[in-house]
Amino acid sequence: KGKVMAKRDIHTWDVERSSSLYRIDQWGSGYFNINRKGEVEVNLRNNNKSSAVSLLEISQGLQERGLKMPVLLRFSDILDDRIKFINETFRAAIKDVGYKGSYKGVYPIKVNQQQQVIEEICHFGKQYHHGLETGSKAELIAALAYLDDPEAYIVCNGYKDEEYIDLALKGLMLGIQTVLVIEMPQEAALIIERSKELGVRPIIGIRMKPSTIASGHWTDSGGERSAFGLNTTQIINAIDLLRNEGMLDCLQLLHYHLGSQIPNIHDIRVGATEAARFYVGLVKEGAKMGLLDIGGGLAIDYDGSSSNTSNSRNYTMAEYCIDVIEEVMNICNESDVEHPTIISESGRALVAYYSVLLLNVLDTNVFKTEAPLEISDELKPVLDNLLYVKKSLSEKTVQECLNDLNYYREEIRVKFLFGKVNMRERAA
Ligand SMILES: *Cc1c(COP(=O)(O)O)cnc(C)c1O
Repeated sequence: KGKVMAKRDIHTWDVERSSSLYRIDQWGSGYFNINRKGEVEVNLRNNNKSSAVSLLEISQGLQERGLKMPVLLRFSDILDDRIKFINETFRAAIKDVGYKGSYKGVYPIKVNQQQQVIEEICHFGKQYHHGLETGSKAELIAALAYLDDPEAYIVCNGYKDEEYIDLALKGLMLGIQTVLVIEMPQEAALIIERSKELGVRPIIGIRMKPSTIASGHWTDSGGERSAFGLNTTQIINAIDLLRNEGMLDCLQLLHYHLGSQIPNIHDIRVGATEAARFYVGLVKEGAKMGLLDIGGGLAIDYDGSSSNTSNSRNYTMAEYCIDVIEEVMNICNESDVEHPTIISESGRALVAYYSVLLLNVLDTNVFKTEAPLEISDELKPVLDNLLYVKKSLSEKTVQECLNDLNYYREEIRVKFLFGKVNMRERAA
């Protein structure tokens, strides 16, 4: 029995042990796995054909061409697959529950601003009218340069000054559906003023502050204390202002964002419920509406544990889509309100799998125990208890001996802190 144990030690590593330690089958989502040779493989799907490529072979090929590690690989096939996945899953959920509205995603540029990413999302996403979300003037300039689909949206979030607003309104004049989201109370008056000046009817959104607080690592941007968004009183004031200006028909979108990487589906569901209530409230106030933007937060299972810890998520894409759609539908039905187009601002859920950083192993470090010091007579008194444990060691007493050894070792370390044991004694 002892021999079998010894054979399966750290040095007899195999593919199964590797795969179970790194949980690659769980977090790889079908894009990454370890092949029989023990190499990490990426699975690329193009036109329903799937091909597996070893990352080791890629790196060897790159080195033959004179490139040195580290290298950042980008797989646009994976990006395409993610865009398709979120759009098709929302479509399936809509069909499944009999929802009357549709789904349109917008990709938040801040999540990965690489030109290739924006280009690929606009290009491949066109069949789904996937749009972009911007949080600044610079991002809006990029969005207007790349998105030319009149059925897609550009959702303009973030702090807005006159220039940002003018840029969005000019985009609208060019035939791009830019939505100006009011994130701070004072922005409402500025949007009204600029659109009168330029002679355009804006598409206006309101960002609400949800009282739902989601658990997770990056959820500070949600909740009542977040920097952005209007509270209920501020929303009412914005509605009254727009009504007085005869612009309630411009108010078409409600936005909220609970935070990024939300691990627990319960929070997502409660957030959707609260938002749907606000949406119905806005319709009842006479706003045109039609668009409900549920923000980001769709999480990635980075550690493959499928749990509600911050590096994971306890739900699937299908569950996420169904829960949101169903919650919004039920609340709209209750109040006889038409089902809105659902917009989501998923970022990491689209791009997390798409790039891989390859680097050389620089060194390895293995935990090794040194041979014990020669125990001279003067060291013996300190080690008395430990030596006694050693003498009583047998197969039956293994656990007991281990417990005792740990106890006496700790005792020596404590004595060292108080100066009762010297350095040589501690080493022994
Ligand atoms: C960061 C951010 C997102 C993207 O969140 P993900 O969790 O990556 O999908 C969406 N909307 C807003 C307002 C954000 O700040």
